[in-house]
Amino acid sequence: MPVHEDPMKLHEYQSKQLFSKYGIPIPKGRVAATAGEARQIAEELGGRVVIKSQVLVGGRGKAGGVKLAKDPQEAEQLATQILGMEIKGLPVRKVLVDEAAAIDQEIYFAVTNDRAARKPVMMASSAGGIDIEEVAAKTPEKIVKIHVDPLLGLRDYQARDIAATIDLPREYWKDFGAIANGLWKAYSINDATLAEINPLVITKDKRLLALDGKVIIDDNALFRHSDLGEMRDIDEEAGAETEARKYGLTYIKLEGDIGCMVNGAGLAMTTMDIVKLFGGEPANFLDIGGGASAEKVAAALRIILSDPNVKAVLFNIFGGITRGDEVARGILAALQEVKPKVPMIVRLVGTNAEEGRKLLADAKMITAETLADAAKKSVAAVAAAMRGQS
Ligand code: GDP
Ligand code: MN
Repeated sequence: MPVHEDPMKLHEYQSKQLFSKYGIPIPKGRVAATAGEARQIAEELGGRVVIKSQVLVGGRGKAGGVKLAKDPQEAEQLATQILGMEIKGLPVRKVLVDEAAAIDQEIYFAVTNDRAARKPVMMASSAGGIDIEEVAAKTPEKIVKIHVDPLLGLRDYQARDIAATIDLPREYWKDFGAIANGLWKAYSINDATLAEINPLVITKDKRLLALDGKVIIDDNALFRHSDLGEMRDIDEEAGAETEARKYGLTYIKLEGDIGCMVNGAGLAMTTMDIVKLFGGEPANFLDIGGGASAEKVAAALRIILSDPNVKAVLFNIFGGITRGDEVARGILAALQEVKPKVPMIVRLVGTNAEEGRKLLADAKMITAETLADAAKKSVAAVAAAMRGQS
């Protein structure tokens, strides 16, 4: 089972759709990819609307990515403007057009994992809105926290306790209880690591409404939620990680310059340690897994070489389920495509290793007998490349 380090973030509009499934009230609205569509939606909704950039970062309000429009014409104007923005380096490709709410109070409300307590924790604050990080840092007492037993689930009295502690007027307790339940379900049923509403507002016409939503799904549980997997916004995530996922590879980019291609997570860690022991810095963690096909190896090499920091590639393959000749064929196939300019060092042992080495003999690769030898040769290759540059 590959372990991905990258959780899946849902966009605001996706998070709110999910919330709505569990009975949490959300504003009417739809997502648009063009300003014309935004205008159309504003016409359908009638009245004031809010135009909201859909990017997978927080603080959109402060960055100018959330704007109120009084009519469809202004909605179109603002959508044009917001669709042309970049927020924290991310281009805005879609906007959510929602019915605008008249706000009386903004509440923060979330469920997340408390790693230290090893339990889910429900958190709320009457000081909700855009500055919850500041509240957490400066006045943490304004945030109430209640642990939820994952087996028992959220109890009614817990939701009431939270409502009382944040001084929510009594008339809202019943609806707040239903929202708390919905939030708990959204979190637990979908294996989320975060389900957050900020703000949950009290409107001037005295309703509770989730104006913003943020859901993060534990990537390791995604196989249980094919419906959520389809929501994954590949465009918005880093290219190499996405490419790796497509081929079932586990890839994590690091800061060093020696690319490492290894089969097995434990062996990958050992390889990184030995590289460091000889004074090198690994450029990545990459596990091609057991029984890797030539196609997978080629993809892995492409991914490693897509990192411009890489000055040498170290292959450490322990043949077992993964056959040495398959790996060699993969490397050769990849070499036809990518034509790397950096030296490549191979240590290949185990099943069909001899055959693999023979296949690689013509490919101008540096072979090594032991892992220590391979690490030393990789470090030396990088040092030579650096000398060549200066
Ligand atoms: P964030 O900055 O990325 O968290 O985006 P939010 O969706 O939370 O919006 C930021 C702020 O914009 C909210 O805290 C509200 O104060 C304001 N806002 C969002 N939607 C509406 C709305 O429908 N009406 C009004 N009046 N303000 C809104
Ligand atoms: Mn928000």
